[in-house]
Parts: sequence; C-alpha cells; structure tokens
Amino acid sequence: MAPTDATTETDVLVIGGGPGGYVAAIRAAQHDLDVTLVEADAYGGTCLNDGCIPSKAFITAADVAHDAANAAGMGIHADPTVDMAELAAWKDGVVDRLTSGVEKLCKANGVSLIEGTATFVDDHTARVAHGDTEQDPEFVAFEACVVATGSRPVEIPGFSFADEHVWSSSDALAAETVPDELVVIGAGYIGMELSTMFAKVGADVTVVEMLDSALPAYDDDITRIVRSRAADLGVEFRFGEGASEWREAEAGIEVATETADGERAVYDADRVLVAVGRRPVTDTLGLDAIGLDPDDNGFLTTDDRTRTDLDHVYAVGDVAGEPMLAHKASAEGIVAAETIAGMSTTLDSQAIPAAVFTDPEIGTVGLTESEAVEAGYDPIVGEMPMRASGRALTMNESEGFVRLVGDGDTGSLLGGQVVAPEASELIAEIGVAIELGATVDDVAETIHTHPTLSEATMEAAENAMEQAIHTLNR
Ligand code: FAD
Repeated sequence: MAPTDATTETDVLVIGGGPGGYVAAIRAAQHDLDVTLVEADAYGGTCLNDGCIPSKAFITAADVAHDAANAAGMGIHADPTVDMAELAAWKDGVVDRLTSGVEKLCKANGVSLIEGTATFVDDHTARVAHGDTEQDPEFVAFEACVVATGSRPVEIPGFSFADEHVWSSSDALAAETVPDELVVIGAGYIGMELSTMFAKVGADVTVVEMLDSALPAYDDDITRIVRSRAADLGVEFRFGEGASEWREAEAGIEVATETADGERAVYDADRVLVAVGRRPVTDTLGLDAIGLDPDDNGFLTTDDRTRTDLDHVYAVGDVAGEPMLAHKASAEGIVAAETIAGMSTTLDSQAIPAAVFTDPEIGTVGLTESEAVEAGYDPIVGEMPMRASGRALTMNESEGFVRLVGDGDTGSLLGGQVVAPEASELIAEIGVAIELGATVDDVAETIHTHPTLSEATMEAAENAMEQAIHTLNR
C-alpha cells in the first residue's frame, strides 16, 4: 500500500503510550482533537511496565521484610521469609491494574488505540507494523505528531542482555528468585535503588562503578548517607572499577573489572545487572523520512513548547532529553497537546523535582547552595536534621536532613534537598512553594501538622531565618 492510501486519518498521532504519550493523547482528546495513539509493546511504557511502578513495588515489599526483621529494638521479633515468586506476582498485579487503567482512560476519552510499531513514511504519514510481521501494515495520516518513544537501557560491550546471566533493569524487575550474589554495574539512581532492594531481600550485592562515587548528580553529603546505609545492608562498593567482561564459572559467573591503572579484580555472582544509563529511542522511527536529525546523544531537540525543528512534530519525555523522569514526560505531554490545540502553554522547568527511592530516600528540587552561588545569588541556607524530628524518631529513623536554599536578597525560595524517609513526598511541598514564588519566611510561617516529617521543612526554613526552635541556628 502506498502512503497516500492511508487507512486512518487523524488530527494527532501519538507514537508511544508511556507517561509522555498517553498523557499527551488524553489531553489532546480533552480538547476535542481526533487522536490516535500507537503503542508497540505495553500501555504505560517503561514507567508502568519496567520502571517506576515495578521498582517501587519491589522496594516497598523489600522494606516491609527488612523493617520487620529489624524491629527488635521496638520489641518486635520477626524473621520474615521472602517468597520472590509471590512478591513478583503481587507486583505484576499492581502493574496490570495500572496499565489496564491507562488503556481504559484513553478509550474513555475517545483516543483511538493501535497496537504496533510506527515509523515515519513522510512528514504527514506513519506506517504501523503489527507484531514482528511486516504483513498488512497500517498507514496513519496525521496533521500533528507527538513522538513519545521513550528510552531503552544501554548495553556495554561484552554484556549482552540476550544472555540470561546479564540483566537489564527490566530483567531485574521481572525476577522471580533472589540471586545469592548479584553484581550491579553502575551506581546511578537505578543501580542504587535496585542494589538496596536486592540487599534487603537477601542478596549479596557488589556495586561496580567507574566513577569514584555513587549518584554523582547529587552532593556528597547527601549520597554519603545513602551509601553508608547501603553498606550497612551489606552492599559492597567498588569505585573506580569498570566491568570488562564476564564468564561462566563452576558455580554461577565471574565478573571481571579493571581500574584506570590496569588493576584487575573478579567478583563471583549469579547474575550481573547492567544499570549504566538509558538511551532515547529515536533510531527505529524512520526520522530520515521527515528530515529530523537527533543530536549526538540521540535526543530530539525541542523548544519550550515541545516542538521539534518541524512545526507539526513534537517530542516529549525521555526522547526529548534530560531529566529522563516520568513526571517531566507527562508535563511535556500536556504542553504538546495544548500547543496543538492552539493554546499558549509553555514549559516552566524551574522546579522539576527528582526522587531516588534508596534508603533513606532522596528528593531534590530547584537549586543547591553551590548552584545558587553559580547563578549569581547570595544564598541563605537552612537545615533540619532528621535526628531532631520527633516523627522521624517514632518511625525508628534518624538519618538525613531537609535543606532549603533561598535568595539572601529577596528571601525567595530557590531550592530544597531532602535525604530522609519519605523524601519523595516531602519534596513536593518545596516544589509547590518554589512554583508559587514563596519566600523562605512563607514556609517558616506556614503551620505544619505535628508530628510529621514535613515539620522538618518548616524548621529548615526557620533555621535559614536564624529562628529555629528545635535546632541550633547557623
Ligand atoms: P516510555 O515510558 O519509555 O514509553 C515509551 C513507549 O513508546 C514504550 O511503551 C514503547 O513501547 C513505545 N514505543 C517506542 N517506539 C515505538 C514505536 N516506533 N511505535 C510505537 N510505540 C513505540 N522515573 C520517575 O520519574 N520516577 C521513578 O521512580 C523512576 N524509576 C525508574 C526505574 C527504572 C528501573 C527505570 C528503567 C526508569 C525509571 N524512571 C523513573 C524513568 C521513567 O520510567 C521514564 O522517564 C518514563 O517512563 C519516560 O516516559 P516516556 O513516555 O518518555 O517513555
């Protein structure tokens, strides 16, 4: 069939049904546009199927087991057994519920769904192949297109995901048994979350990282706490080592590493998890057919309305660049849909929060103190340690802190860094405050519920104003 014989005509073609694509599709349909969403694999994308949701389900369950086993100080004596197959079935139930919810929501909003892989044929037509077969492709003619094809895990030479001993994060999240020994390559956020989780359910974990620290995107006083908790759980860190190869051994496998000076080491394992980053999926889209060129890292360049170099082709989510986070993908999806609908929505990326679900969790938003200095501010900084939080102590937690950064001249809140239990939740308040243009004083004067972890945010603001009650002022 020639492209001109398109079987479907649509106002908006959305390619990819992850949090970028399905949100764009639903919002565009809410604006009475005719929308067709094509998904090659599973509705909900990486986030719901191989990323945020299954990882957080595993992490929560591992926390339950670990907390129960370590509650003797509270007078609770338990020795929980983790049945990984049952745990995985529970996790799959959570994923199924959410992915079927996405499908139902799309349909209920009038979005037409096509299961297949879309590639561009020309700048107003895409071809959709069904399954692995090239037979009976479908053609979709579109006025506007939102590319939301996400990202895939990066392989490293010698470690092919096709081998059962080598895990991608997706394989790790499909695990039905706990490896006795697990080597994790990469101490970024995915590597750290999964190492901590597997250590809590009984694996001996070794993390191999070429750099000299974990979570290099975060300040050292934040990562030190997370690293030291992981080490307490038995996670062994091997910094400055790059994984060079693996081979089968008598029992399991051996993973070989090498330092920059050529020093070699070998670690025994049952599985090796490669978590060295993710790459945007732009290579399989037929971008040549529409004359779009990804940048050197494979990302599509967009403006503040998510438009690519072609006015009618938009890119959202992981495919459009860092930060590769689900909530950023959805926010971009909304902007793309509303722009197509003729509205003047733009991206305001002042305060995109980020969370790492380690133990304790990390939450960040806006500027750190050093970033504020670099940006020309004379910052004020306030901090509240969790050891002074009544609620944290009732949760048997005492590590971490809430830190706020404000503009010394105007008092405006510029950023927050939280390393604490529930940091992923605590960071939301700071994000809202930044978004609303609040001052540090506004946060200090907001009455917070007692006893809660969020009081630490108020106390950090008071500390920045040199008015803290429960900590010594700076
Ligand atoms: P995706 O969710 O990747 O969806 C893209 C979709 O496009 C896929 O379903 C794919 O099948 C489809 N597709 C690709 N090509 C085609 C084609 N040619 N035709 C049709 N369909 C196509 N982010 C957070 O914010 N918080 C977290 O806690 C978090 N945890 C994570 C944990 C792990 C282990 C991983 C791997 C990721 C995590 N992320 C997290 C990142 C998050 O999953 C991504 O940022 C998010 O899914 C990106 O959304 P997206 O819509 O851009 O792409």
